[in-house]
Amino acid sequence: MTVTRFAPSPTGRLHVGHAYSALFAARAAADAGGRFLLRIEDIDAGRCRPEFEDAIYEDLAWLGLAWEQPVRRQSEHMQDYSAALDKLDDIGVLYPCFCTRKDIEREVEAAGRAPHGPDGALYPGTCRALSAREREDLVAAGEPHALRLDMAAAAALAGRLTFADREYGTIAVDGSGCGDVVLARKDTPTSYHLAVTVDDAIQGVTLVTRGADLLHATHIHRILQALLRLPVPEYMHHGLLTGADGKRFAKRDRSLTIEALREAGKSPTEVRAMAGMPD
Ligand code: GLU
Repeated sequence: MTVTRFAPSPTGRLHVGHAYSALFAARAAADAGGRFLLRIEDIDAGRCRPEFEDAIYEDLAWLGLAWEQPVRRQSEHMQDYSAALDKLDDIGVLYPCFCTRKDIEREVEAAGRAPHGPDGALYPGTCRALSAREREDLVAAGEPHALRLDMAAAAALAGRLTFADREYGTIAVDGSGCGDVVLARKDTPTSYHLAVTVDDAIQGVTLVTRGADLLHATHIHRILQALLRLPVPEYMHHGLLTGADGKRFAKRDRSLTIEALREAGKSPTEVRAMAGMPD
């Protein structure tokens, strides 16, 4: 049975790009006689707002989508992420990172030409070099820290991996392009990469559909699946909807939010067509 999901973060109003993503996932499920889930990715307490979550339900229902209940809200499942972190810690692929953003910038500058990944300069690995004793002392002293994945150790343990993408074919996994990503943040005991991987497994998602801007993240997720012994879904990374100027729709394009289009008198049929998903 095909299970797909749409997993927005309630950090702003949904726009036509989101409509495309949501309709894409729902149609992939419907075409296969499967199930469509909605998941609220609200781990970032500083940026998520209840009114944006309400707006997600309102906008998606207006677009004609229906999803299963209950909706999984990530903020309610921190224990699932901490259990996964414990497993990763047991196999020795995590380390605490005490660096501030400033520390990292300084390190990267001092290094001259630092390798870059999709999210900017890669973490230079400063805290990976700390001894077990130094780590223990800093943690015991209450120093705020994130938990990072030791990517080289993780990749070595995971071995050769691939994932299947309906758009791109079979892709050989290479986590090195992302470096030692954060799996638990200083302010939140999880991260996007960890939560999405754990949730897709717990919810039995068999086909992950999302924008091609997240293709790099799948390399990390595939490694985490191997280390956590989670089932491996199929992927379909879709193109991103662009405006007439060829630029991606962003949350700042107020006029292209579903709310603004609705208020401007557009019908759901018209917005579905604008999103490239005509009836
Ligand atoms: N929550 C992510 C976003 O809003 C999407 C995550 C995913 O589909 O894997 O960009």
